[in-house]
Order: sequence, then C-alpha cells, then structure tokens
Amino acid sequence: MYRIENYVFPSSLEEACRLLNGDLRGSAVLGGGCWLRLGRRHLRNAVDISRLGLDGIEEKEGWLELGAGVTLRRLETDLAVTGRFGGILGRSVSSIVGVQFRNMVTVGGTVYARLGFSDLITTLLSLDARVVFYRAGEMGLGEYLASNGCPGDILTAVRIPDDGRQAAYESLRRSRTDFPVLAVAVSRLGEDWRVSVGARPFVAARAERAEACLSRGGGADQAGELAAQELRFGSNLRAGEDYRRKLAAVLVRRAAQTLERGGEGCEG
Ligand SMILES: Cc1cc2nc3c(=O)[nH]c(=O)nc-3n(C[C@H](O)[C@H](O)[C@H](O)COP(=O)(O)OP(=O)(O)OC[C@H]3O[C@@H](n4cnc5c(N)ncnc54)[C@H](O)[C@@H]3O)c2cc1C
Repeated sequence: MYRIENYVFPSSLEEACRLLNGDLRGSAVLGGGCWLRLGRRHLRNAVDISRLGLDGIEEKEGWLELGAGVTLRRLETDLAVTGRFGGILGRSVSSIVGVQFRNMVTVGGTVYARLGFSDLITTLLSLDARVVFYRAGEMGLGEYLASNGCPGDILTAVRIPDDGRQAAYESLRRSRTDFPVLAVAVSRLGEDWRVSVGARPFVAARAERAEACLSRGGGADQAGELAAQELRFGSNLRAGEDYRRKLAAVLVRRAAQTLERGGEGCEG
C-alpha cells in the first residue's frame, strides 16, 4: 500500500518531467499503480499521466505504436494488436492475474519497471520493439534493459516494426495465474529468427546462438539446446537454476516448432 501526499495531474509531459526532477523529488509516475502499491511506500507526489493522451494504439508507417497508457487488457482485445504477430501480444499477457487487473496495468509501467518475470517484455524483445522516452528519446528495448534506466524521465510509447513477423509464446506457471517460472517468445520473419527468454528469473534476454541456428536451418531441437547453454539462469522460490535451464530447451523448441509449422503461437 502506498501513501500519497499530493496527487498531481500534469497538463503536459514537460510539466510532468519538471515535477519528477524538480523541487518535488520523491515523486513517482503512476501507470496502473499495481506494482507501485506493493509494500509500504510514501510518495510525496504521484504524477498521474493518464490525461496526457498516451493511451493510443496507432498504425504508423511500418510501425505499430503502443502508447504508455495502453492497458494489458487492450493488447488482448484491440483488433490492431490481436491481428498482428500471430496474436502474441495478447496471448502472452493473458495469464497475468485476472481481467480487472489487466484493465489497470499499463504497457508503460510494465516496460519501465523492467521486472525479471515480465511476460510482455519477453514478447516485445522478440519483436525488436523500441521504447520512446520524453527526454532520452528512442532506443531499442534491449538497449534500455541493459542500461541504468531512465530515472526522472517518462516512457511515452513502445514501437514495434509492423513487418509481418510471426511469433509464438510459451510459458510455464505453477498455477494458471502465477508468475511465470520461465517465459519464451520466438519470432520469425522469413529466415530471420528472434529468441527471447525471460523469468530466468532475470529480465528477458535474446539467445543469439539459438537465433543463428534457426536462421541457418539448424532446427528447433538444436536451437533449444543452444538457448539453454548460452543464457544465464538462476534460482528463486519458483524454480531452481537447473530446472529453468532444462525448461528453456523445451519451451524454445516448442515455440520454434510452432513457427516451423506455420502456426500461430500458443500458451504452454
Ligand atoms: C500481484 C501481481 C502479480 C503480477 N503477475 C505478473 C505476471 O504473472 N506476469 C507479468 O508479466 N507481470 C506480472 N505483474 C506485473 C504487472 O503485469 C505490471 O508489469 C506491473 O504492475 C507494472 O505495471 P503498472 O502499470 O501497474 O505500473 P506502476 O505500478 O504504475 O509503475 C511501475 C513503475 O514504473 C513507473 N512508471 C509507470 N509508468 C511510467 C511511465 N510511463 N514512464 C516512466 N515511469 C513509469 C512507476 O513510477 C513505477 O516505478 C504482476 C504484478 C502484481 C502486482
């Protein structure tokens, strides 16, 4: 639960950034507020950006652009999203808690927070997504994940190349709506493949040797083994490192096989 002293609706992104960086330090941007409210937190200012028009889904000259305020639920229901990339965006978030929750959680809060178990980040990485910050500008999602973050800045949108890429998603959960033990997204554009593995329990990363293997026709079995070898895995209360490594080989293989068959992605 958090306690908020001042709840602010800025009238522009410039004003929102000023609030975050100026004399009102101790402020936080509110996305869905669902992660922020965990634990005890005292916010001097909550900067609510929901009135800044950041909740659009736009098809723009070769890009699908998701505003930071787009909710996860809209990824499951908006035809501009469900009709692309084999429907992976909606499918990959469909096990997160429940519909009411996904009606609140935002794309911006999810990507900004860089949570290791994020289903959405795993998927976006496999789609070559880019992130747009108000001050820092645009960068690849992978670059953002590897950086020190953008404190005091506002994530305004996520952009995905609208290039006809198909993708498949696999995750394993101990129960239907639990956090994933492991999350895998594989995408394909002709012979150009991407493999992304999240919840290792570290934040999603690309498995580049597995990608190269698939791109030269090496097959799903071998790609799964390579992904398991090349990435770093760890243990937490949901699973141990060895189990995750073995699981990665299986889930990467399954997702790649789905795309080899030309089928749409399916939740494991
Ligand atoms: C109980 C629970 C279970 C969950 N289970 C899963 C799961 O199984 N799989 C999964 O992938 N995820 C899961 N999540 C994470 C969830 O999907 C969201 O990723 C998370 O709640 C953050 O999104 P939000 O919109 O609520 O962000 P918020 O809580 O509003 O914000 C998160 C952080 O990002 C900052 N922020 C928000 N928006 C912006 C912005 N536009 N620009 C800059 N900074 C911003 C906030 O200040 C805060 O620091 C779970 C979360 C909870 C609470």
